[in-house]
Amino acid sequence: MISSIIFILILILTIVLFYKNVSVIVKNINLGKDLIINDNKPERWNRMFRVAVGQSKMVKRPVSGILHIMVYAGFILVNIEMLEIMIDGVAGTHRFFSGIPFYNVLISFFELFALSVIFACVIFIIRRDVIRVKRFHTREMTRWPLIDANIILITEILLMSALFCMNAADRVLQLRGVEHYMDTGHIFFSGFLVPLFSNLPDTSLILIEKTGWWFHIVGVFVFLNYIPYSKHFHVFLSFPNVFYAKLKPATYITNMDAITNEVKVAMGVLGEEAVADVEIERFGAKDAKDLNWKSLMDAYTCTECGRCTAVCPANITGKLLSPRKIMMDTRDRIEEVGHHMVGMSIKADEAQTLLGSYITPEEIWACTTCNACTNECPVDIDQVSIIMELRRYMYLEEAGGSGTLNAAITNIENNGAPWQFSPEDRMLWAEGLEVPTMASQLAQGKTPEYLFWIGSAGAFDDRYKKVTREFVKILNHLKVDYAVLGTEESDSGDIARRAGNEMVFQMQAMMNIEVLNGYEVKKIITCDPHDFNTIKNEYPDLGGNYEIAHHSQFLQQMIAEGKLNLNSGELKDKKITFHDPCYLGRGNKEYEAPRSVLDALPGNRVEMKRSKQFALCCGAGGGQMFKEAEKGDKEVFIERTEEALATGCDIIATACPFCMTMMTDGIKYQNREEDVKNYDIVELVAMSLTI
Ligand code: SF4
Ligand code: SF4
Repeated sequence: MISSIIFILILILTIVLFYKNVSVIVKNINLGKDLIINDNKPERWNRMFRVAVGQSKMVKRPVSGILHIMVYAGFILVNIEMLEIMIDGVAGTHRFFSGIPFYNVLISFFELFALSVIFACVIFIIRRDVIRVKRFHTREMTRWPLIDANIILITEILLMSALFCMNAADRVLQLRGVEHYMDTGHIFFSGFLVPLFSNLPDTSLILIEKTGWWFHIVGVFVFLNYIPYSKHFHVFLSFPNVFYAKLKPATYITNMDAITNEVKVAMGVLGEEAVADVEIERFGAKDAKDLNWKSLMDAYTCTECGRCTAVCPANITGKLLSPRKIMMDTRDRIEEVGHHMVGMSIKADEAQTLLGSYITPEEIWACTTCNACTNECPVDIDQVSIIMELRRYMYLEEAGGSGTLNAAITNIENNGAPWQFSPEDRMLWAEGLEVPTMASQLAQGKTPEYLFWIGSAGAFDDRYKKVTREFVKILNHLKVDYAVLGTEESDSGDIARRAGNEMVFQMQAMMNIEVLNGYEVKKIITCDPHDFNTIKNEYPDLGGNYEIAHHSQFLQQMIAEGKLNLNSGELKDKKITFHDPCYLGRGNKEYEAPRSVLDALPGNRVEMKRSKQFALCCGAGGGQMFKEAEKGDKEVFIERTEEALATGCDIIATACPFCMTMMTDGIKYQNREEDVKNYDIVELVAMSLTI
């Protein structure tokens, strides 16, 4: 009776405290900006079951993935036993379910999982503290995060061990026929401990059994109230977090609707009255409260596993950026803001900000927006959207980024390209070639089937102009009904958007959409994966809806239809490795098209160690192409080129103008220009084409 009252009081206290702790977290998440996410519920449920319940992303890295699943499954299943413990605690019974058939088999089954939890936790401790796996010891993983992880692992081992001691002592008491200890039958795993306890007197055994029982249940209650202060809150938040995760392609960046009307006014599409009554507190994010609630939920869901940081090209090459730190800083800061709002003045809260006090500009400018981090995260956290919001603040409210990046964006604004070329020179690449323009076709009353989108690099970068020309030759050879915009094309705005200058992006996008829609363009082909991504995924937000193919997809289709005869022997015996462009691969899940094009050529294709979804970025995305790299041990392009050269390849094949610049520079840096070449897949097709 007394023990039941004590149990019920502890249970009530646990529930009250847990409710209070969780309420604080919910309140802090709600400090974020509003965001409505209610689209495509079936896909959201599906994803939640696959990723959060089914742990599908964990097994990408098999060793730690399987160990984690052992802890996860064990924790859930062993806690089913909690149901019996709770009933016993409240009703004062002992092993309430022991009368059900195969009770001992069920308990043995729970013990199996308890054992797997102990095994996995021991391995985790060894990996963290003995082997010292690198991702657990980066600069943000000191003091509390390091201690927290060990507290959790040791607590889980102790809780599970208590179960075994309780069951073994109970079994000995059962065999001795002690009152209240009804026979459950042999319990398999704790059965091995029975001989250890068999010489102890009944009183000691009852003490061990009762202590094991109370230790386990009180331990679970304490653990429950510790979790909200720990990274382990992900055991609850991972489900809603995955449910509300971004469904669009990883490289899609949300439109800033707050700016759209301003841009329309600037372009004369809307009158001044459209923005007259609109008051925007702040563009982008300077502090945690400026982020939306989903980003704050992301921060609370972070398990601090460091998988994102381990694959981040910036971090790998010694730069300050760590996507895990971005999430930890965001959580620490919103907790601080929430704390100040409850107990102290708002003024004290404003003494610090997320950008500046926690995250430095150097960190956010190191990001290549490659999305290796979002791809890796087991709980579908979107680290890049926080980085983007901080960059947007820098561009829209402060001085922007580095001088060279600012200059590139000014050029886009003034000349429609990131370099200082006149828009009138946009067709110089086509000198000597037959290239129809949309205007000339329209004048003849024709509507071409395809628009070939050249992109700024395709029009102005000396090396990539050669790729554009080769692709046009292939289009002409195939007698494809196409045309280009010529001087009516302008920069897609991809670089401006990734840098954070949403104003320039939307201006460029709206200008291009007006031209494309004016020509009633339906199908587009492009050689540039960045423009491919922007036009495919981001232009629809501003009224541009087109069917767009990357040149690799177009070539794949032509080859499949038998329209290209690729038998020329030029590439025979050549070893070719393919570098996946992030904006084609991870961004838009296209890994096979470029590979099937290469497989149709006479050479031999070899894979790099990191390829497809695990491919390392070339280092040029997210505006990096137009700025100095942030301080680090190495440049990203050197790391990637070294990996390509390690395959023993003769050719590094690329399918992106930025990747081409980076790989070519990498080959030069390694003094391998004589024996290793870099070609776009279009050039390789052109070399192999027999006409
Ligand atoms: S997008 Fe790439 S560079 Fe940026 S934080 Fe993620 S992994 Fe690092
Ligand atoms: S953001 Fe995701 S991958 Fe990175 S540490 Fe947190 S949980 Fe792990």
